[in-house]
Amino acid sequence: MSEITETDAAAERNARHKRAMQRKKEYIDGNIAAATIDKGLLLVLTGNGKGKSSSAFGMLARSVGHGLRCGVVQFIKGQWECGEQMLFGEHPLVEFHVMNTGFTWDTQDREGDILAAEKTWAHGARLLQDPSIDVVILDELTYMLTYGYLDKEAVLLALENRPQNQHVIVTGRNAAKELIEIADTVTELGDNKHAFYSGVKVQKGIDY
Ligand code: ATP
Ligand code: MG
Repeated sequence: MSEITETDAAAERNARHKRAMQRKKEYIDGNIAAATIDKGLLLVLTGNGKGKSSSAFGMLARSVGHGLRCGVVQFIKGQWECGEQMLFGEHPLVEFHVMNTGFTWDTQDREGDILAAEKTWAHGARLLQDPSIDVVILDELTYMLTYGYLDKEAVLLALENRPQNQHVIVTGRNAAKELIEIADTVTELGDNKHAFYSGVKVQKGIDY
């Protein structure tokens, strides 16, 4: 008797699951059908948590996998040999530029940093005018705006006037509100926990 009840309960549960999944599918299919626009996106990855640059380079890997032409401009970085540069630096589909000055608290040289920022930005500005480039990554760009090393208006204008189908990914903490306003997708990564604060040093493959 109890066996029949258990079978009935399982059948009822399975039927409920099927109805719920049917409703979910209708909802998701509806949303997919409503998303018909095809255009170049501006994505901003910001916040204090880990995962901004690595997310951007994940999208670079996807893009290269699809045969898209990509440009990478890394502001600040250059002290460590980053795995992403080792993999994509000489890739025929990727143009890769690194500012190479290191962190501002290491250089302690505002004028030198400004010159380096402007020189590096010139590559970004050119890529943002080139319709043959499908994806542009401006890694750690936000700091150049926070420190006032680059003219915010000029950067925003270059982003807005880029080719219609070009995707751009900007990373860095404290993204300016004007940048967030013109972006299509903004992700704020939260700093729930980081191994560094438990005394763990940077790890190859995970951190650089
Ligand atoms: P990643 O390149 O790993 O995606 P990120 O781009 O989000 O990190 P950055 O501020 O650019 O973060 O810092 C790069 C380096 O600092 C990496 O080694 C990363 O692990 C480390 N890092 C990132 N977030 C934190 C944090 N909240 N606390 C301590 N270290 C961090
Ligand atoms: Mg980063």
